[in-house]
Amino acid sequence: MMTAENDLSAIMDSHSISPVMKGHFDRCIDFHTYPAPGLLIGVFMVDYALELLGATPGEKLYAVAETYKCAPDPLQVILNCTSGNHRLRIIPIGKFAITLNRPSTEAHTDGFRVFVDADKIGRYPVLAAWFRNEPTFKKQSMEQQLLDEIFTAKRDILSAEKVRVEVTPKQKWQSAKCPICGETVPGDMLEDGVCRGCGSMTYYQAVEAVD
Ligand SMILES: [Zn+2]
Repeated sequence: MMTAENDLSAIMDSHSISPVMKGHFDRCIDFHTYPAPGLLIGVFMVDYALELLGATPGEKLYAVAETYKCAPDPLQVILNCTSGNHRLRIIPIGKFAITLNRPSTEAHTDGFRVFVDADKIGRYPVLAAWFRNEPTFKKQSMEQQLLDEIFTAKRDILSAEKVRVEVTPKQKWQSAKCPICGETVPGDMLEDGVCRGCGSMTYYQAVEAVD
């Protein structure tokens, strides 16, 4: 019996996926921990956006993902655009779309936005049913066909546009101490004089101090 990975590798080979792209898929699947359909589509999206921008993976680029689902991971793995290095913004619009642009000292710069096209995806019935979260999609029995359609389609379900994006310059900031918890935050992140952790973004209750 073939393992899931061998299986996927065989599907990729049967659709003439290039060694470079296979490398991207392998690294992204490893990072994501499993070959989620959205992740695989995301790899094709990043590859397409790179080509439109005339850029290569080593270049310093800025990226936006319009959803938290899957799409941020190929941007992190292939392009090293991460939340931590401020080169990845995740704007939760809920669309399966990404935008790439180069650094710029101007207030605006041109980039390319790549998205799953609702009209084009209809050419692939299983993929469309999965993408639209339709009850007709049955994961158990349709997963192989779904993967097959993803690698058959490649960029065929994607559309792209040239877009102008705002460049946000690095802000100067000063440290402030929250009067409730005593921890420090950038001053402009205080709300009504207290940190957001003690305010609108509280997410835990202290149980006991450890040290
Ligand atoms: Zn606080």
